[in-house]
Amino acid sequence: TTSLLTATGLRKIYSGTPALDGADFAIRAGETVAVMGPSGSGKSTLLHCLAGIVPPDEGTITYEGRELSAMSDGERSALRRSRFGFVFQFGQLVPELTCVENVALPLRLTGLGRREAERAARPWLERLEVDDVAHHRPGEISGGQGQRVAVARALATTPRVIFADEPTGALDSLNGERVMELLTAAARETSAAVVLVTHEARVAAYADREIVVRDGRTRSLEPAS
Ligand code: ADP
Ligand code: ADP
Repeated sequence: TTSLLTATGLRKIYSGTPALDGADFAIRAGETVAVMGPSGSGKSTLLHCLAGIVPPDEGTITYEGRELSAMSDGERSALRRSRFGFVFQFGQLVPELTCVENVALPLRLTGLGRREAERAARPWLERLEVDDVAHHRPGEISGGQGQRVAVARALATTPRVIFADEPTGALDSLNGERVMELLTAAARETSAAVVLVTHEARVAAYADREIVVRDGRTRSLEPAS
């Protein structure tokens, strides 16, 4: 099968220092790839480039054969909204909104009305086992529940790629494992690919394969196919 999202020769310089220095990446539909490496190696920068959030200084990124750099800002945001989902380490839920309203938010951004979006959000809360806190606000739930709501929100638009940057970084190992189990199971069911940034081998173990980043360069642990 062909790749869904590919990057070749990415370079990104921050004040004279390369954060990415010749990074390559490819992910096929439905697979989970762990991006591993020490702190400061360029993992987050790679993820931000792949997701079209940060433009690389050099190199090419394509999604379904379309170059991100050839798209307008509007086209890139539309792509992010309709095809990509995001889960970060923390601070991502809107504190003023209830959990079901948070999960409904990306659906509302695609044009659904409030009732319809919240109805569509419910199965994702159930799928992530946080339906019982649907009407709570993020400040009233645990960190593990919050990350599961964040995963539900990332999945609600049935994205083709989920970008997860240290999704369990703020959780204890038990809650972290639960988040990873539910995230990877839901991704598999919806055939979503997952780009999983982590420095923990225990978390990377949930991926189909690993890419290691070191000093801004990538290395695949398996021969590229
Ligand atoms: P990792 O995710 O592996 O910890 P990052 O991609 O966050 O690594 O960072 C790689 C390097 O690039 C680090 O030296 C970091 O300080 C630098 N960097 C990342 N983002 C920025 C930015 N927006 N401005 C300046 N330097 C940055
Ligand atoms: P992570 O823990 O995922 O590597 P960081 O906490 O390092 O993320 O970075 C958070 C945000 O700050 C990112 O958007 C990153 O690009 C930016 N950033 C990282 N390092 C620097 C830096 N040295 N100067 C400015 N921005 C940075």
